[in-house]
Amino acid sequence: QRLVGAEEEPDEQTIESALRPKALGDFVGQPRVRQQLSLVLEASKLRGRSADHILLSGPPGLGKTTLAMIVAEEMGAPLRISSGPAIQHSGDLAAILSSLTPGEVLFLDEIHRMSRPAEEMLYMAMEDFRVDIVVGKGAGATSIPLELPPFTLVAATTRAGLLPGPLRDRFGFTGHLEFYDVAELELVLRRSAGLLDLPISTEGFTEIASRSRGTPRIANRLLRRVRDWALVHDVGHIDARSCAAALDMYEVDARGLDRLDRSVLEALVHKFGGGPVGLSTLAIAVGEETETVETVAEPYLVREGLIGRTPRGRIALPAAWDHLGLAAPEG
Ligand code: ADP
Repeated sequence: QRLVGAEEEPDEQTIESALRPKALGDFVGQPRVRQQLSLVLEASKLRGRSADHILLSGPPGLGKTTLAMIVAEEMGAPLRISSGPAIQHSGDLAAILSSLTPGEVLFLDEIHRMSRPAEEMLYMAMEDFRVDIVVGKGAGATSIPLELPPFTLVAATTRAGLLPGPLRDRFGFTGHLEFYDVAELELVLRRSAGLLDLPISTEGFTEIASRSRGTPRIANRLLRRVRDWALVHDVGHIDARSCAAALDMYEVDARGLDRLDRSVLEALVHKFGGGPVGLSTLAIAVGEETETVETVAEPYLVREGLIGRTPRGRIALPAAWDHLGLAAPEG
């Protein structure tokens, strides 16, 4: 289990949901998305109609699910949660859509992984609030139109580029979530530490924030590791040294890179001489799925200026050699 991976350990899910902001005002950072979303919601409340469909994109752990929950909360509407991989047949989607109540918010995570037939059914549902249910097979098949109540689709994807144009075009609002800066992560951590009743110094928050890979989910997770460490070491007031000691133990380095990030850098530098190398070859070299490397490790490494994308593949930038304690080759 990766400490800073995309998935949540089940026993920690309760804490995670307790730390989730419930209102747009408590949602830290992402000022542009927050402002735009607030306008969309306000306008639809004034019109007395359900909000336009919303697409949220960005790497895991940046707050897409949280925003979907906030949309439902702000609209005073119930929330239904499902995901692309859970919808393999158009019938799965028809069952969900036909049981929605008027105004309900439907959250579909990982929408880029939905099957093609379901996707086509979704086009019509989003645009006209109806679906055609096909009954029977072959020449005797007939389609029965079914009216749906108005609903708001909030879809999330880690790879907006993979969505077909016709699907992207049906969202009234698209918000792209960016990695958070250290100051924003400090705010996330302060809020969480308050809820968990943890006494941490200002420098302690900075230490955790700068190791959180720009990601609130990771910030909260590292905070819980620091909490465990302080408990075991019987530390009353948690300072930067304690935070650093706790996080070093979990192999999260000073730049926030974890084992996967470092093995991507090491493979790139040691096995491929700094590249360029194709993404799938790189993924095989570190024993991970291509999608994991592409959506979990790469965006942050690119943002940190450690690796670069070129038409011929991924390359290690001078900062990568530097981070590994090596001298970058000339040129
Ligand atoms: P995603 O759906 O993008 O993978 P989530 O919405 O599940 O991410 O967010 C992961 C966790 O990070 C949430 O439990 C929440 O506590 C925290 N979080 C995310 N964004 C914010 C934010 N802007 N402010 C405060 N906490 C946040």
